[in-house]
Amino acid sequence: MSTAGFNSQNGTGTGQAYANGPSQNPVALQQLPGVSYSMTHQPTYNPMQAKAPSPPGPGLYPSGPYQPVPPVSSYQPGPPLSSYPTSPGQALLTRPPMGGPLSHTPPQSASPSPGPRLPPAQATPPPPAVSSSSYYSNPQQPQPMAPAWQYNTAPPPLVPPTSMNTPLRGPVANHVNPAASSTAPPPSSAAYSSAPPAHVSHSATQPPGPRMPPTSVHGYTQPGAAPPPMNPIAPHTYQPSRAPYGPPPTGPPPTMKPTPPPSGPPMANATPPPPKADGTVAGNGPQAPNSYNHVDNKMAGLPQPGPPGRHLGHYPSLPPGYQNASTPHNATSPVHPAMQAATQPYTQAPQPYQQPPVGPGPAQLSPSLAAMSLQSSTPEALRVVNLLQERNLLPPSPIPAPTPCLPQDLQKINCNPEVFRSTLTSIPQTQSLLNKAKMPLGLLLHPFKDLSQLPVVTSSTIVRCRSCRTYINPFVSFLDQRRWKCNLCYRVNDVPEEFMYNPVSRSYGEPHKRPEVQNATIEFIAPSEYMLRPPQPAVYLFVLDVSHNAVETGYLNVFCQSMLDNINALPGDSRTKVGFITFDSTIHFYNLQEGLSQPQMLIVSDIEDIFLPTPDSLLVNLNECKELVQDLLKSLPTLFEKTMETQSALGSALQAAFKLLSPTGGRMSVFQTQLPNLGVGALQSREDPNQRASAKDIQHLSPATDFYKKLALDCSGQQVAVDLFLLSAQYCDLASLGCISRYSAGSIYYYPSYHHQHNPSQVECFQKDLKRYLTRKIGFEAVMRIRCTKGLSIHTFHGNFFVRSTDLLSLPNVNPDAGFAVQMSIEENLDDMQVVSFQAALLYTSSKGERRIRVHTLCLPVVNSLSDIFAGADVQAITGLLACMAVDRSVTASLSDARDAMTNAAIDSLTSYRQSVLTIQQPGLLSPACLRLFPMFILALLKQKSFRTGTSTRLDDRVFAMCQLKYQPLAYAMLMIHPALYRVDDLTDEGALNISERTIPQPRLLQLSVEKLSRDGAFLMDAGTVMYLWIGRNCHPNFLTQVLGVPNYAAVPDNLYMLPELDTAESQRTRAFIGWLRDQRPFFPSLHVIRDESQRKASFMQNMIEDRTESALSYYEFLLHLQQQISK
Ligand SMILES: [Zn+2]
Repeated sequence: MSTAGFNSQNGTGTGQAYANGPSQNPVALQQLPGVSYSMTHQPTYNPMQAKAPSPPGPGLYPSGPYQPVPPVSSYQPGPPLSSYPTSPGQALLTRPPMGGPLSHTPPQSASPSPGPRLPPAQATPPPPAVSSSSYYSNPQQPQPMAPAWQYNTAPPPLVPPTSMNTPLRGPVANHVNPAASSTAPPPSSAAYSSAPPAHVSHSATQPPGPRMPPTSVHGYTQPGAAPPPMNPIAPHTYQPSRAPYGPPPTGPPPTMKPTPPPSGPPMANATPPPPKADGTVAGNGPQAPNSYNHVDNKMAGLPQPGPPGRHLGHYPSLPPGYQNASTPHNATSPVHPAMQAATQPYTQAPQPYQQPPVGPGPAQLSPSLAAMSLQSSTPEALRVVNLLQERNLLPPSPIPAPTPCLPQDLQKINCNPEVFRSTLTSIPQTQSLLNKAKMPLGLLLHPFKDLSQLPVVTSSTIVRCRSCRTYINPFVSFLDQRRWKCNLCYRVNDVPEEFMYNPVSRSYGEPHKRPEVQNATIEFIAPSEYMLRPPQPAVYLFVLDVSHNAVETGYLNVFCQSMLDNINALPGDSRTKVGFITFDSTIHFYNLQEGLSQPQMLIVSDIEDIFLPTPDSLLVNLNECKELVQDLLKSLPTLFEKTMETQSALGSALQAAFKLLSPTGGRMSVFQTQLPNLGVGALQSREDPNQRASAKDIQHLSPATDFYKKLALDCSGQQVAVDLFLLSAQYCDLASLGCISRYSAGSIYYYPSYHHQHNPSQVECFQKDLKRYLTRKIGFEAVMRIRCTKGLSIHTFHGNFFVRSTDLLSLPNVNPDAGFAVQMSIEENLDDMQVVSFQAALLYTSSKGERRIRVHTLCLPVVNSLSDIFAGADVQAITGLLACMAVDRSVTASLSDARDAMTNAAIDSLTSYRQSVLTIQQPGLLSPACLRLFPMFILALLKQKSFRTGTSTRLDDRVFAMCQLKYQPLAYAMLMIHPALYRVDDLTDEGALNISERTIPQPRLLQLSVEKLSRDGAFLMDAGTVMYLWIGRNCHPNFLTQVLGVPNYAAVPDNLYMLPELDTAESQRTRAFIGWLRDQRPFFPSLHVIRDESQRKASFMQNMIEDRTESALSYYEFLLHLQQQISK
């Protein structure tokens, strides 16, 4: 049933590499020998598989496409091995000429000199076949393929390593490839309508106004009124929202003193500059060699983990409802959701932690290693909880990420769990041990997260392992001053002379004190000599639906105004380019060339054979042509206001946009309001509204066509990412359309029922989201590679990207709001290791044109007992990873399979715990404390929009929810899975946070049950992307008047989505709390005030996941079901 869609396989499942420039990237060829490419996966436990009803075929989860081992053939002969050692960088890279292998591209658009390109067969791959392999064990990986292109053992040359990682750059020729112009037909081409469009339907119904003759500007309606206000926002305020959750839980290294005020001004003011060698100011600008300082301060305002007062006194005592749970404080310490950063140790399981004689790990940390063995022998994480008896398990605030059981010195410098997190914070020694534990092993990443503190190093020597290319990091060991041992492959490397000098302390001879060895997250600026051509400029192309339906929604006004407001805040530099395409049944280009007095509209009506009318003047330098761009933005909303054109040739518009962006790469932002119904990529409605509430399997979760996926892969090959904004009340087949973003590393935004008058709350969301979108940080032509210690293997990725090689993700754009997940298996026994490490390296071009490498390194202990594995389980990370896996499963197998598999995941892990860890058998449904919320989270997933059955759910809503689970960073995904409920009619200042002179009340979390509601109160439910404020029928009049500004319950307006700004303490508290919650995520959750009579009450009630519904079990019933299964 599954073709492509959400089976999370970005690409190469069937061995048909969608090789978008397989030869582009020599990095792909350097591998950890024997590690990540080892194709002999042991059989792995598959929680999604264990007890699921036997699926058709041998396997459930087609892991195929995720273990993309590109066939040898897709790699061009030569480049890998022969050229690898000789070139420091991009010399090897050849990017196919512009145009790429776009199957639907008319012949003449192809570059005349195809150059090194793939045979068409590979360029337009078939939809990924559903592999029958097991989701974890990947038995079908084409093992023999690997050696042919795998990194061989020849040691890399003595060139600066970074260069190897700065690929993705096409050859210079591509950069200036005039293919577009050379292929553009002359103006007289028939297709290039030089008169008002010839379509009968069009001209017949269209008033003369909106359509202008393509080559003239006369039709251009200039708004007579004053220009819209321009908000000269300082460039590069990546401001919008603060990073959602606080900074690293562990204190930054000594030299990084984070003092981020919780919602304060930019860090520049708040952070004392670290000791620096040269005193340069941090920023995106060029830096002097060897300087090292903080950047990204703009995103300031992060709450500091554990500032004084944060944890104190918010919850003076456990609320009555929780007292029966004898939960020690460490597991449920009153940390607010947003304060998860304040990581609390889940467990201090005694680890036989002895200093390995010559093992990995910083040698200087040996004292603490010894100390490990002295830790408490009664880990809270393993406290036995009888779930059937302890009903109030929900802590008053969300549980923090568990702290890996590492020596304090190691843990102190370990990676922030919000950035890099493992489902198991203690890694099993062997795959068979992992299989016994019946828990999924994987990593969750938020690699480009906005950080308030980010050390940046500019150095001509980026120190990496000569064997596996790992970046030097805090978890390597120094054998002496001159030699360091890689913590991933154990090769002993020399310390370069330059590295002996420490710019922080300005001292010599202490390489282990360099910032690279003191920070688990660090960013390098690649020296310019590594680059053969300037990095890509920031290029933004906007593709706008201007059909009748689009105009009806009124979105164009908001878009144009937001662009005008933020035009100076678009990330970029003097090279930034912008362009616009609009479309309905035809494609409209806009000539914005400097010197024109007005923008010039060019209409191409031949959508079957799309071409660029004036290729050189459609993407223009923003600084040079800003006035013309502003003119266009002011005119657009009125330009089409009378259109009657209802058709949508989205596919052709995307093809045109792809052509336009191909020479440079960049970001394509597509705004679509209906089902595309004309030309290539046209779709038909597949949704049967009568089946929305079906308890049977949901159909059409996979794409109807591979057009969007193919185009996305072409885009990926040309460093183009496509972001999709879908604003539609009707079915749009997001399962098909979403592929355009999914495989090109784009983002998807969805505003169902968007209408400028009828749905003001969505208008507000759209406005806020747009502002964030336009101004947030962006990285271009990015790749991310995840390495792990020899013996571990990564095999399945989740998120939006294209898997270019086994561990390399192609990310034409990377944005700070994107999350990723990977699954892992244990290939070789880790029994001689105390710790293992994981390193994610994100290489990108900043909007200022710098090539940068952001490196995160996570270190975790290795354990050899099941109880230690359980003690280190991270229930939220497990839930997040299972959600990703279940999305894949829903698409490739069926929704019911996915649901069964999730239930089985809970059954299996608790069974394993009962059978293998518990020494004394007791009655009841027993769980270790660290997993006590697991059944509840699984039940929440079963009731989540993505996976629920029996409840009316629009297909696009469901598909969008699935998309979100796949690419939302864990913190936001968890809110979507298990919303937070607070009582807010009695907010007090007791225990409140004080942030920037605002007092933020901190009500405690409530269980998601109607039991917890009370008619005389008001309750706020935070479900991540949406919030509900439920007003009880007998709500205290004080709240109604002081917060809502209405005299009584009956007077609460029906569609209230904004709290009035009343000058009362109650109003201020409530708004402060809601505003604070909103500030902690990069998107804008809408707020709906609801009463019993409200239409939206059903949505609110559906989130009461502990309660029974007509189609789903209550939490208690679910527990009984689990118990029944476990005792079988
Ligand atoms: Zn190495």
